[in-house]
Amino acid sequence: MHSLSVAEMAEALSQGQCTSEELTQVFLERIAQFDAELNSLITVDPDSALEQARAADTRRRSGEAGPLTGVPMIHKDIFLTAGQRTTCGSRMLGNFVPPFDATIVERCAAAGLVTLGKANMDEFAMGSSNETSYFGPVRNPWDPARVPGGSSGGSAAAIAARLAPLATGSDTGGSIRQPAALCGITGLKPTYGRVSRYGMIAFASSLDQAGVFGRDAQDCALLLEAMAGFDPRDSTSVDHPVPHYAGTLTNPLTGLRIGIPAEFFGAGLEPAVASAVESALKVFESLGATLHPVQLPNLGLSVPTYYTLAPAEASSNLSRFDGVRYGHRCENPVNLEDLYKRSRGEGFGAEVKRRIMIGTYVLSAGYYDAYYLKAQRCRRLITEDFRRVFEEVDVLAGPTAPEVAFRLGEKTDDPVKMYLSDINTIAVNLAGLPGLSLPAGFVDDLPVGLQLIGPHFEEGRLLNMAHQFQRETDWHRRHPTAFA
Ligand code: GLN
Repeated sequence: MHSLSVAEMAEALSQGQCTSEELTQVFLERIAQFDAELNSLITVDPDSALEQARAADTRRRSGEAGPLTGVPMIHKDIFLTAGQRTTCGSRMLGNFVPPFDATIVERCAAAGLVTLGKANMDEFAMGSSNETSYFGPVRNPWDPARVPGGSSGGSAAAIAARLAPLATGSDTGGSIRQPAALCGITGLKPTYGRVSRYGMIAFASSLDQAGVFGRDAQDCALLLEAMAGFDPRDSTSVDHPVPHYAGTLTNPLTGLRIGIPAEFFGAGLEPAVASAVESALKVFESLGATLHPVQLPNLGLSVPTYYTLAPAEASSNLSRFDGVRYGHRCENPVNLEDLYKRSRGEGFGAEVKRRIMIGTYVLSAGYYDAYYLKAQRCRRLITEDFRRVFEEVDVLAGPTAPEVAFRLGEKTDDPVKMYLSDINTIAVNLAGLPGLSLPAGFVDDLPVGLQLIGPHFEEGRLLNMAHQFQRETDWHRRHPTAFA
């Protein structure tokens, strides 16, 4: 049952071949069996999951079910869940129990989805390997000596090991697409503003976007449809109708113009990854699309631009964690300053502190023009590059990550090396565009991800392309044998 697609699970539920309670039980048992090794979940609440499942079964019996009613899922632990601990991977929020649900959590519940638990993640979503979590690293199901990618590494590893069929994630600079690639699953970061950020703990607010993970594009389409749409509680959410994504998956790709940015194939790209991606692109040609070389000349600025702007925003967002209003408070403070210093010093891990220091520095009076303002200008140049290429082509494609999953500890001593893991994903956030990663091959039994990037609000086109590709290939159906 755990290897069915979400569409197949929904069919089985509606035919009465199984109940949500049975399905939920299957996944809870898999979590109990396998998650000690993977560490993909921070919190699991079997009683609450089974209660939600029984409610979904009742709803189905009374004829009020939607397509996802009774299907289990997990939420990244960055999304607030009322009454259930939400840690953001940090000691700072180690015991934080939110009083309300994030909008997307609320919408998933309204669709009848059953929450199994909360997924592990890099602390405050800062990382590319899921090694900065206060709750310990997540391991990659394809090779537990390797990282699952980050920061939504728990969500991606859990889907790859089939501990859940669906998960939410957040993507500020690649945190959905990069772990999707490294774990061999499908992940979509929507257009900035497509999905509400209300109740998603803020990292860098002008870049953060909530999105979805599934094993294939159809599963992602179903979940995105349930979550997307305007939310008056998020001032950056856009009032733009939500298409029926699952209804356009089989549109033909004839005549589709796919741009191949030369910059995605430069130095640093593992040759075996490049050749897997090149073979995958041929599948699109066989489906009637055409490939066009294009250029994004300012793409090289994206990593330094991001690592100026994201820490700047983070330093401001994370100032709310002061030991007074939320989260961890030190023991016996002698005065207010001591309370701030020790609460923050104890509550945050090394990577978060590094970002706060960089962010505070680039925003300080003497350096604002030299760093922050300059980075804002670079952001505009990068955005213009995309605008220009989308006059010539319909979508862009290239490798999601420059290499396959790396070993735990391999990059932890060298932050810059770690930051370069997101070299192909970061520019998409700077421009607010939708991006999708799908499984496109293997190198030494480790998955390779192909990234598709579209113009604003073209999630439907990306899902359509991914679905057509997945009808021709079986990369997305492979699974790690140790988690059969
Ligand atoms: N790896 C990037 C960072 O560390 C992106 C993280 C993300 O998308 N949340 O900031």
